[in-house]
Amino acid sequence: MDILITGGAGYIGSHLADRLLADGHSVVVLDDLSTGRFENIAHHQGNPRFAWVQGDVRDAPLVARLVERCDVVFHLAAVVGVGHVVRDPLRCVQVNVGGTEAVLAAAFAHRRRVLFASSSEVYGKSDRVPFREEDDRILGATRIPRWAYAVSKALDEHLCFAYADRGLEVSVVRYFNSYGPRMDGRGYGSVVARFISQALKGEPLTVYGDGQQTRCFTYVSDTVEGTVRAATRTEALGQAFNIGSDREVAVRDLAEMIRTLTGSSSPIVQVPYEEVFGRQFEEAVRRRPSIDKARRLLGFEPAVPLEEGLKHTIRWFERNLTAETQRAQKG
Ligand code: UDP
Repeated sequence: MDILITGGAGYIGSHLADRLLADGHSVVVLDDLSTGRFENIAHHQGNPRFAWVQGDVRDAPLVARLVERCDVVFHLAAVVGVGHVVRDPLRCVQVNVGGTEAVLAAAFAHRRRVLFASSSEVYGKSDRVPFREEDDRILGATRIPRWAYAVSKALDEHLCFAYADRGLEVSVVRYFNSYGPRMDGRGYGSVVARFISQALKGEPLTVYGDGQQTRCFTYVSDTVEGTVRAATRTEALGQAFNIGSDREVAVRDLAEMIRTLTGSSSPIVQVPYEEVFGRQFEEAVRRRPSIDKARRLLGFEPAVPLEEGLKHTIRWFERNLTAETQRAQKG
């Protein structure tokens, strides 16, 4: 198949590109490199089944041209990461909603199948774990910028289902805290990336709040597997799926695990939320999916235990931090 991946130079998108190329498909990546990185896809340069375009997913004529040439669109391009969202909620809403509308309108016009990457964030601060796909969602006030992301992704899901009602072939996956090689250690993307790079540099591991908040960390190969299944199975049409691990881990325990696995002597420190995000912040305290639906309809089963996934990720960060340090020294 000819496949378009928006956001394909990003952390999940580039792993998806690797997988689809390995399966024999042709892949075109659209990415504006705002958080994606050319290095994530550079190893495919020269592959005749691979091409990439630098551009904005809101550029409707560009998106329409690329969609027309493909069979399936994986739409991952978005402003993601609580830090990015809190810093610039306007860009989050504009890119996430404008980009998705551009992709869906083009796919509808050309009758192409779409996989939309949504987020566990849509469940908001609901404490009724495990979260099921049809559950109510509980979001905070609109004055709190964090919720802009959840609202943008939920609105995107509404767009998907509204187009589905008109005949578009579309499926939605809600990712639960994906982690793995190529995450951005500098920043806002993921607590796993932050803790690993802090541990490897000998810096304190910064646990926000009391660290009792939980997440279900999902290794990227499992994230990709769920994504591919949802994009290709007939049973997935018009459906949303939780894609992730269902092992709930407290952030404090994650910090301990990473410190042990890296052999680091970094201290673990607690940082109040307001020091990081300012006064107007709310946390999602517990987050755990029910993956019954993905199991039943997609045969999805997370396969990589947290310790093993963390070891792979740590190894990648060790190599990458060395390369980055060498580049910085040369430069
Ligand atoms: N977190 C933390 N220290 C950090 C970064 C994040 O304790 O340096 C916490 C954050 O408050 C949240 C969890 O780790 O409870 C996961 O954060 P992340 O940004 O990875 O994703 P989220 O699930 O919040 O979207």
